[in-house]
Amino acid sequence: MRIACGGVQHETNTFATVPTTLADFIRDSGCGPDFFGGEELRARFRDSGTVHGGFIAGAEQADFELLPLICVHAQPAGIVQDEAFNRILGLFLERLKQVMPVDGVLLDLHGAMVTEAHSDAESAFITAVREVVGPQVPIVSTLDLHGNIGQRSAELADVLIGFDTYPHVDMYERGREAALLMARIVRGEVRPTQAFRKVPLLTMPPMQCTLREPMISLMRKLHELEALPDVLTATVMQGFPFADIPEAGVSVFVTTNNNRQLAETLADRVAGWMWDLRDALQPKLTRVDEVIQFARDNTQGLVLYADGSDNPGGGAPSDGTIALQAMIDAKFEGGVVGILYDPETAAQAHAAGVGKTIPARIGGKTDDQHGAPVVTDAYVRSLCDGHYNFHGPMYQGMTGEFGPMALLVIGGVEVVVASRRHQLLDAEMLRVAGVTPERRKLIVVKSAVHFRADLGPLASHIFDADTPGIHRPDFAAFKYQHVRRPIYPLDKMT
Ligand SMILES: [Zn+2]
Repeated sequence: MRIACGGVQHETNTFATVPTTLADFIRDSGCGPDFFGGEELRARFRDSGTVHGGFIAGAEQADFELLPLICVHAQPAGIVQDEAFNRILGLFLERLKQVMPVDGVLLDLHGAMVTEAHSDAESAFITAVREVVGPQVPIVSTLDLHGNIGQRSAELADVLIGFDTYPHVDMYERGREAALLMARIVRGEVRPTQAFRKVPLLTMPPMQCTLREPMISLMRKLHELEALPDVLTATVMQGFPFADIPEAGVSVFVTTNNNRQLAETLADRVAGWMWDLRDALQPKLTRVDEVIQFARDNTQGLVLYADGSDNPGGGAPSDGTIALQAMIDAKFEGGVVGILYDPETAAQAHAAGVGKTIPARIGGKTDDQHGAPVVTDAYVRSLCDGHYNFHGPMYQGMTGEFGPMALLVIGGVEVVVASRRHQLLDAEMLRVAGVTPERRKLIVVKSAVHFRADLGPLASHIFDADTPGIHRPDFAAFKYQHVRRPIYPLDKMT
């Protein structure tokens, strides 16, 4: 049995002003301009906490030959340029044709990629793959929980399997699940029958989190349903609300073994569960002054303030300054902001050296929606090259690069600046810069939910920030023009 695998992942924030280029995919993937596949790809992902790590493990367990073609991603940002999408898809198809015939194709897609030409780029990807392999060869794709999935993807792929967790700590398990299911399909042991529902509902990251209610209970019920006879897999996709496209929002897939009626009935049931939670899924936000006061009064433990409005993991600049400026103005002691994307300030600190004070202009440089630069003298406490290993539950076994990083001190507030933009989702990202998170009173994290996987257990309290930005978890902050209507909560629906 020969199974091709590969994919491209991007979460596109259509409200972001910075487009996503081919150069972004080359830099962030670390695969070089030829986007290597084959053995190099296998070596990179083997034993890692990623979907491809799961594909590799599943292929070994089910004893089939896995043919890795290409697997690339770019940091979430604005619309993906056609040049980038066409190049990546072109390489995938070229390599797929070289290994044909195959018995199946495993895809590792995100689900929320928007390109200049396609609002639903994954369906364009799956369509092109289907054209090469024909109607009989099974296609199984994993998807990020934030995918905005269209009808066409559901029709063209035999099985779609979304992540069950946010923070996404089950990428490896979902990859392995997809690979094992693929083996059963190819061996003729099961006939996947998939039902798909779009729920007329948009949800926001803080409450999509599966470590909090109401999603803890809903996921428990979903797993009970997956254990029913004839059910192969079931998924609730929350969707990515910062994309003004018709496909945005919640969707549901249920796949049974050749039981159409059961698949349709259960898909309706799960869609109903999500619809019933529509009000419970709306977040409550906390103002900066409130959290500063709370952290001052909270003498025991660490407070985390999730600055989701400026979450680079959802395409935001990660250089927002609202909370940083407020902590400086309040003369807060024991506060940290991280990780701010500011290559200029990082370079300035590296040029000056540890122990020096620099006249800095920190953050607020990407656009005018996340606060103005903080103009201040800043003391350079430590410097590093920004190389780190993921130690937390996400991406375990992988490495990351922030480029030159600096830990700056302004009064009682520390700020970590980096030369590359990445969501703060692993405590190691702070530790390499010289911050011991458990010894601080208040950390403003540039993340909406993923930080909870590794930093959450260190905190006594967590608040969702009421700050401005292009990832603000507040529907009133956005003007949607292309989302299908009616949809809750943009429209009143009963
Ligand atoms: Zn996601």
